[in-house]
Amino acid sequence: MNINNSIRIEGRRIRLPKVGMIKFHTKQIITGEISSVTFRKKNSGKYYAAILCKDGPIKSSKKNRRSCGIDLGITNFVTINTGEIIRFPEQNKIKHLDKKTRRLHRSLSRKQPQSNNRQKNKEKLSRGYEKIHNTLKYHFYKIAQRLTEKYQIICLETLNIKNMLKNRKLSKKIQEKSWHMFVEILEEKAEQRGRTIIHIDQWYPSSKTCHKCQHIKQDLKQGEQTWTCPQCKTILHRDINAAKNILQEGLKTKQVNNKK
Ligand SMILES: [Zn+2]
Repeated sequence: MNINNSIRIEGRRIRLPKVGMIKFHTKQIITGEISSVTFRKKNSGKYYAAILCKDGPIKSSKKNRRSCGIDLGITNFVTINTGEIIRFPEQNKIKHLDKKTRRLHRSLSRKQPQSNNRQKNKEKLSRGYEKIHNTLKYHFYKIAQRLTEKYQIICLETLNIKNMLKNRKLSKKIQEKSWHMFVEILEEKAEQRGRTIIHIDQWYPSSKTCHKCQHIKQDLKQGEQTWTCPQCKTILHRDINAAKNILQEGLKTKQVNNKK
């Protein structure tokens, strides 16, 4: 893990040319050969390093040549067609940080311009935003890692925030930001690993369609977590049913694209 020995990682320290050894903190395991390190100073006064490594391509085995459909929500953050549900990560911690930053944001407007207190407050606020961002990013990477490890093709719904169930615990801003961030990270990971992401049409009624008989229940209410299909009488879990439909629809879209 070094370029001619000029950049080196030893435990929790990084060696840089001209600078020497400095302490650093990371939650990710750095593997492969380091090809570059870029530094950036954030508004909070902290330095961040982006470490670019060359890692060998991941061999695809028969095992991971599988496909899945995922439904994105807020309490059930990711629901996979297999029935697996991944909850929104660290909801309480994010909620707490979100409250804190909103309070700081309000008090900032009451501070005298160019005062010391204002500057301090600003830095605190930046640190708060960074903490939220980093916590989410860390967990989203882990989820994306798992999904791309297991599946070759991942079908997703194009995000339609207006139709999403609201979660009163988290602010709207964080919910929206989270989805976009997660999809971005998932796409990035998929590209690195040679996986395919299929976005299905945002108007496709994935929640209202019964995956067994394709009957569409037009009057499905937002709060209904389970419903019984009036036609085939199957009891359906809202999010798992949606994920199953997303998979079916996604694979259909893929076939159409392949024929073109
Ligand atoms: Zn049905």
